[in-house]
Amino acid sequence: MQSFDVVIVGAGPAGIGMALELNKIPGLKYGVLESGRIGESFRCWPAQTRLITPSFYSNPFGLADLNAVDATSSPAIFAGAEHLSGNQYADYLTFVANAAELPIACGCKVMQVDPDPDGGFILLTEYGKLFTQFLIWATGEYQFPDLKPFPGGHWCRHYAQIEDWQAMEAGTYTIIGGYESGLDSAINLLEFGHQVRLLVRKPTWDLPDVYDPSQTLSPFTRERLRKVESSNRLQIIYDADVVEVTREENGNFCIHTADGRRWETTHPPILGTGFLKGGGARQITDLWMWGDDDHIVLSDVDESIYAPGLFLIGPQVRHDLRIYCFIYKFRQRFARIAHQIALRLELVIEPSEKSEDGTWGPFGNSECCEGCEC
Ligand SMILES: Cc1cc2nc3c(=O)[nH]c(=O)nc-3n(C[C@H](O)[C@H](O)[C@H](O)COP(=O)(O)OP(=O)(O)OC[C@H]3O[C@@H](n4cnc5c(N)ncnc54)[C@H](O)[C@@H]3O)c2cc1C
Repeated sequence: MQSFDVVIVGAGPAGIGMALELNKIPGLKYGVLESGRIGESFRCWPAQTRLITPSFYSNPFGLADLNAVDATSSPAIFAGAEHLSGNQYADYLTFVANAAELPIACGCKVMQVDPDPDGGFILLTEYGKLFTQFLIWATGEYQFPDLKPFPGGHWCRHYAQIEDWQAMEAGTYTIIGGYESGLDSAINLLEFGHQVRLLVRKPTWDLPDVYDPSQTLSPFTRERLRKVESSNRLQIIYDADVVEVTREENGNFCIHTADGRRWETTHPPILGTGFLKGGGARQITDLWMWGDDDHIVLSDVDESIYAPGLFLIGPQVRHDLRIYCFIYKFRQRFARIAHQIALRLELVIEPSEKSEDGTWGPFGNSECCEGCEC
């Protein structure tokens, strides 16, 4: 059985960024296992979807491109674009991984993880078993959509199941969900000439005193919405708490809300209602402590409470009100995990050239951001 110091599962931005950080530890034996291709989730995005966070080459001034996975690379420079498509971003990740010669095995799904009684983990992969002392779980959310947010959810199509909005049949579509994916669905369908009924609980683009893009609509999508909101092909229905979707005898789909309203539609409703709580971490659900709100409870260094040596990185990481669901947020956690692992294995991390001055690190002033309320 092959043996590693560290295995990262998943080669999205979290897994690739973390691997680049581990690359700074000479003597560390690590590998990345990916069930598909590098950036697989981004390759599965609908053709029209763009990153909502802008890319801009600001790296030499101490503030890395918001979508970069390390301090020196820049998706803006790589793609010559500010809002990259899924394929452009996956190409960027592949380029960075190849340039650093990261040890990645693609097409290698991890199917089971068993903690070893003597410490470490035994992973069952499509190609056999391997042992690792430390395990970093980076499996994201996108490939784990919540297909049944309410009874009858199976009659609907989830945002993550759409390949290309241009290929949709002509007609009127009903979309459930008023955050990023619901709005992206609505705007794309409008742009391709369809009628859209958008059911939202509350307008996420108009929430007083909420500024964090993890909770309120991003300026990018707000701006796109502004261009279509006066269209007579768009109907927005507020306070719509959908509780069920049924199939009628005439073949139509019927959407029911908690307050007794109902709408019929010929096309399956589109779910912009999000992903499984915990996303890919559900694959090893027993190894995590789950909080009352169905989020994973982690130590200060993002380690599992139940399985020491197992770390979580990516959009599922939360600490109190801090939601690390964007690349520019969760990349700030890589260095502390690398530091922990190096410490426990009594190895040394090579200092990063870019953060030697200590004040403004590549990803911002982390001392300020970790402690203060700004
Ligand atoms: C439509 C949309 C737009 C978004 N726009 C932005 C944005 O503009 N800016 C931003 O910062 N964030 C954005 N996000 C969020 C961002 O996509 C995620 O935060 C990011 O993809 C998470 O990266 P990740 O590496 O954790 O997960 P992923 O990119 O999902 O990578 C996880 C990888 O793990 C692999 N995997 C899963 N299970 C296994 C297994 N058992 N064995 C082996 N491999 C496995 C998958 O194949 C995948 O490649 C957006 C999300 C969506 C859905």
